[in-house]
Amino acid sequence: MSLDANCLFCKIIEGDIPANIVYRNDNVVAFRDINPQAPTHVVIVPTVHVENAAGLAKMSSVITAALILAADEIAKSEGLDGYRTVFNTGASVGQSVFHAHLHLLGGRYFAWPPG
Ligand code: AMP
Ligand code: ZN
Repeated sequence: MSLDANCLFCKIIEGDIPANIVYRNDNVVAFRDINPQAPTHVVIVPTVHVENAAGLAKMSSVITAALILAADEIAKSEGLDGYRTVFNTGASVGQSVFHAHLHLLGGRYFAWPPG
């Protein structure tokens, strides 16, 4: 699958930049966020370079589902009884890496609505 040589998450997928990888299969790689916002904060990325979640869904419903299933599996292995998953789409809501990714957060109380 195609990667982008200038993309931070593609470099992590390739092993060119180190990361604390907690889960990996053909479709996804998951690693601990470098700036965690909760006791468990894992970033789950598709092993294909695409800018955001909608772009990924247009490309492959299988890989999109794989992100969600990986989140559930990692949450179980972390012992979480509940978790929050977030796709940020666009710089205006905080997307800073333009390679689609699902945040998995848990291990503390989360307010609703989110800020
Ligand atoms: P977003 O702001 O939704 O684009 O999420 C990008 C996330 O990637 C942020 O939560 C960052 O803390 C995280 N991040 C950036 N660089 C790294 C890295 N080298 N290793 C792990 N996580 C990173
Ligand atoms: Zn990428």
